Amino acid sequence: MQEIKLDSPFDSHLHLRDGDLLKTVAPISARAFAGAIVMPNLTPPIETIDAANAYKARVIQAIDAPFEPIVALYLTRRVKLDDVKRAKIVKLYPFGVTTGAESGAKNIGDFDEIFGVMQDCGAILSVHGESGGEVLQREAEFAPIYEKLAKTYPRLKIVMEHIGCAALANLLEKRENLYATITLHHLLYTLDDLLGGALNSHLFCKPIVKTAADRAALRQLAFSAYPKVSFGSDSAPHPKAAKERGAAGIFSAPVLLPTLAELFEAHSATDALRAFVCDNAQKIYDVKLPPKTVTLIKKPATVPNEIGGVVPMRFGETIGWSIA
Ligand SMILES: [Zn+2]
Repeated sequence: MQEIKLDSPFDSHLHLRDGDLLKTVAPISARAFAGAIVMPNLTPPIETIDAANAYKARVIQAIDAPFEPIVALYLTRRVKLDDVKRAKIVKLYPFGVTTGAESGAKNIGDFDEIFGVMQDCGAILSVHGESGGEVLQREAEFAPIYEKLAKTYPRLKIVMEHIGCAALANLLEKRENLYATITLHHLLYTLDDLLGGALNSHLFCKPIVKTAADRAALRQLAFSAYPKVSFGSDSAPHPKAAKERGAAGIFSAPVLLPTLAELFEAHSATDALRAFVCDNAQKIYDVKLPPKTVTLIKKPATVPNEIGGVVPMRFGETIGWSIA
């Protein structure tokens, strides 16, 4: 049987939530990946290293496989410089742009001192890059902010999270210190999948999936093993009722590696898959992961309609690959 072996696959952008939902979703990621950067947009937000360590302990308690959760620090006006100095990843949300961004930055200039400290101590800035403008323009409108940050802090590693448009993809070649993560859903879907037929709230996320040309720009990066880009799922579970009322976020964790194998194979890009989900992230983030080989086999499996009250991406569909 055809198989693909992946050494220590890494999810560079993951939402695990807390409480019962954490216990449902964390084991799914821990089975498929050796580690992840775990997002801090809980209520209240993770804005101290103590809170990040306590959350990390709750994640580890919820899983049953070797898995390294790296919890990002949420950049708010309450964050202390001492905590920034001890952080590996600091997450910047502009105010109100997505789930849990109510504590986000109203004025990015407020954090100049912190960005200066971060570039001195080597912390990585992870950014949800969207403006408060019209929905399809929000990412492109954020491009000048990325460029200004990258130019002002040339030694600061800045990761443009879950890029969904060509305008941001194009920045990677312009600025040495700009990197990006790309999700599975932005590689798979366009606006037509979301609202071209019946409205599909399960494909609604921020940033929103966009045009075929935008998707082509992202595919070009992923399928060419472009070294400044790593896979970050942005898997973000919501209870079914909230999702059907329009909450932003796609629960993709249960289908990630099998779907990636299928997609890369369909585009004759299987050789680039290892760089995209394993090697690039290790270089960009310099993470130490538990050794873990994940084997994908070409054996079809059908995605369940619901997992613990959450509807996974591709529910009811059959995927051509499975985790062995
Ligand atoms: Zn996210």
